[in-house]
Amino acid sequence: MDCIFCKIIAGKIPGEFVHQDSEIVAFRDNHPVAPTHILIVPRKHIPSLAEFNDDESPLMAHMVSVANRLARQEGVAEKGYRLVVNSGVDGGQLVPHLHLHLIGGRKLSHGLG
Ligand code: AMP
Ligand code: ZN
Repeated sequence: MDCIFCKIIAGKIPGEFVHQDSEIVAFRDNHPVAPTHILIVPRKHIPSLAEFNDDESPLMAHMVSVANRLARQEGVAEKGYRLVVNSGVDGGQLVPHLHLHLIGGRKLSHGLG
């Protein structure tokens, strides 16, 4: 499949992994918007949050747990961080493989626009 995140997961193109387990991987964003910018990505190719099934909610819970653990590892947990899911064109999603952005290490603006 011609999906850049599937290729990273398969080891076909490089990624700077910070977590890997049987369900998900996490690697550093190659265009970071903050000192910590990690993508938490399910191994399964789910195109977007809009295509995420209710019966998969344990997977999202696991993604959030790993994001929280990585935030502690990165030393941003105490000062604060942001978890973001962009979904679809209007949501600003560029890579059509579900992922959670973990962003921190600087004061983020309140704006969400
Ligand atoms: P989104 O707009 O939510 O789909 O975000 C996609 C993110 O993937 C962007 O922040 C990109 O910088 C990041 N990205 C794209 N290609 C790569 C890559 N090869 N390695 C790491 N991050 C990537
Ligand atoms: Zn994919």
